[in-house]
Amino acid sequence: MDKPAKRLAILGSTGSIGRQTLEIVESFSEKYKVLGLAGGRNTELLIKQVKRFRPVLAYSAIELELPSSTNFATMEEIASHPEVDLVVIATSGKEGLAPTLAAIHAGKNIALANKEVLVMAGEIITREAKKHKATIIPIDSEHSAIWQCLQGEISGISRVILTASGGPFYQLTKKQLAKVTVEDALKHPTWEMGRKITVDSATLMNKGLEVIEAHWLFSLPFDKIDVVLHPQSIVHSLVEFIDGSVKAQLSLPDMRLPIQYALSYPERLENPRLPRLDMTKTHLIFKRIDRSRFPCLQLALEAGKRGGTYPAALCAADEIAVSLFLDNQINFLKIGEIIDKTLSLHKGIATPTLEDILATDKWARETALKLAHEENKC
Ligand code: MG
Repeated sequence: MDKPAKRLAILGSTGSIGRQTLEIVESFSEKYKVLGLAGGRNTELLIKQVKRFRPVLAYSAIELELPSSTNFATMEEIASHPEVDLVVIATSGKEGLAPTLAAIHAGKNIALANKEVLVMAGEIITREAKKHKATIIPIDSEHSAIWQCLQGEISGISRVILTASGGPFYQLTKKQLAKVTVEDALKHPTWEMGRKITVDSATLMNKGLEVIEAHWLFSLPFDKIDVVLHPQSIVHSLVEFIDGSVKAQLSLPDMRLPIQYALSYPERLENPRLPRLDMTKTHLIFKRIDRSRFPCLQLALEAGKRGGTYPAALCAADEIAVSLFLDNQINFLKIGEIIDKTLSLHKGIATPTLEDILATDKWARETALKLAHEENKC
């Protein structure tokens, strides 16, 4: 007999990951049913999605009129609804924190794309997930790759190696980096993503956040997580075991694959819409990263190692700095400088509560903004 459809709550359904998640749902309409949708400011698209997928519950940051078959609910209510089997967290920034915790407390399985959730509150999230037996399945392509490499393994990891495309600027000098435009930064060579994460990929902050994410997801110390430059984005990450064996996951860069795997896990599904890799047309290069040109990576690694509230301060300062860059108010190199200054002013809390983390977020946003304005006046 066919299995009953998996019932999904998709938070952040109007963003890039949310839209691609719904594409997968459409490809396997007998396997997945959408029970709840939550969107941000793109209400036009959210209404279209609600009409198409007919969820029982929907949330929008802006008031909107829903069809009578769909009830308005908060993201926490959607994430913890008793009939939901899997919660897809595709929100961005700290927005995903409270609904992720609500899903965990309700013992739900989670497909996590919102990396800030683990970066900001990794200790709380992983502890609570263990307590409530909630499995966190990564959607981020690197972490999905590691997750896939670890299937069937019970121990013996010697290190994981995250690959970084290097973004559009990995060959530029510092002088050239000072002059890049917003348009340049948004032209990612291999991935199509939202604006914030595309800039984070150009500064390599994204890779730093992913190291912290991997630290929590796979309970690994920072010295067992390496990063290598791999401009083709074909090898999504690797795991080295104590016997010297290295496993990697390869595919063409397309987020629908890790999204689909997170939905279907532990099964795999045949999807003719996903592109296939031709190894005879593939040329793979791996290089060391010159960290002096990409200070954001270093800042993230340091914040991760210091732990406590430092990663939350890092995320908040980065969000402000990137938005100022996108508004043409600061140049590309200032992103790292503002984050660095914010972190150096931060008085960290070693074992923070969720309130401490949210207070740090607020403090770091205000501080980063103030620092940027002071700089602009000079
Ligand atoms: Mg990634």
